[in-house]
Amino acid sequence: MSGEIKKDIRKLSLAELEEFFLSVGDKKFRAKQVYDWLWNKKLKNFEEMTNISKATREMLEHHFVINHIRVDQMQRSEDGTIKNAVMLYDGKIVESVLIPTPKRITACVSSQVGCSLDCNFCATARLKRMRNLHPDEIFDQVVAIMEEAKIYFDRPLTNIVFMGMGEPLLNYANLLEAIDKITSPEGLGMSPKRITVSTVGVCKMIRKLADDEVKFNLAVSLHSAINETRSRLMPINDTNPLEELAEALKYWYAKTKRKVTYEYVVWKGINDDEPHALALAKFCQIIPSKVNLIQYNPIDDGEFQQADPEKISLYVSVLESFGIVAKVRKSRGQDIDAACGQLANKNDLITEG
Ligand code: SAH
Repeated sequence: MSGEIKKDIRKLSLAELEEFFLSVGDKKFRAKQVYDWLWNKKLKNFEEMTNISKATREMLEHHFVINHIRVDQMQRSEDGTIKNAVMLYDGKIVESVLIPTPKRITACVSSQVGCSLDCNFCATARLKRMRNLHPDEIFDQVVAIMEEAKIYFDRPLTNIVFMGMGEPLLNYANLLEAIDKITSPEGLGMSPKRITVSTVGVCKMIRKLADDEVKFNLAVSLHSAINETRSRLMPINDTNPLEELAEALKYWYAKTKRKVTYEYVVWKGINDDEPHALALAKFCQIIPSKVNLIQYNPIDDGEFQQADPEKISLYVSVLESFGIVAKVRKSRGQDIDAACGQLANKNDLITEG
């Protein structure tokens, strides 16, 4: 093959793979066999595709490569959390996290290299967005964590949250394709009910999720139900204000009948008073929802501080008085910068490209 760049076979859909096999005079069902090796058995080379003839394997080798991610560095927290620095085929790095609890093992995966959203309190925002992850790169992060769950905990992966680097809804098509590979029986066969996609609140895309009748769960990073405060924290609120977010969420609920989870950090002197707690409780009345009060994980410059415990209690009692379920979430993996908003490739330099 005179210097021609080989295609990554995992960029092909099943239909494209079928077309390929027909074009080389082979049978259509061969595509299904190869697809199964790639997405269900998670093979990383052609040699091990044992139900396929040697000649066909060599032919595949001649036309294609299988690019896959590599766990470049793995760190383990004293609480058991594992953070993977994952190297992509072009040398860029993203991070994913395995979070063990007595009942669950959750994978927190990235959807973009860096992020474009500029939330003031988030370390990933400092990286800017460099590129979207491909479906196979999202899939591979999940597979890497599945393997670690087996090796280090001898338990299966139970849940996936898209709360790593990036805004999943700004990488919409690839996100949905990856989730399809994770949930379909030809892929990993996980239940979509065990998957949660977290968004900063991109209204148009929340509506699209509803239109596409997705079966996974939705979380929204709210952090304030008062526009002025939310805009200070998250510039996205200037173009997607709370009134519009509320409408998009009503649309989501009307179509899916599924609750949303609001992610919410209470910061000292920013949103730790009663008016903010009341505004959140009112916002929660819009559609059935629950609240995760997440601990603030300090990033370097110290501009933001976690609110005092009595302010968190104030939130809990206000929310409870409105009949809203609120859980106070402890942070995991802080010692290795693996907690929410701390993913920033501290140990590696990413080259802009
Ligand atoms: N872009 C999506 C996915 C990222 S999820 C989203 O915004 O939802 C990461 C979660 O951690 C979000 O809820 C985010 O608001 C929160 N977060 C960001 N920085 C944080 C920090 N320093 N401490 C605690 N939570 C943080």
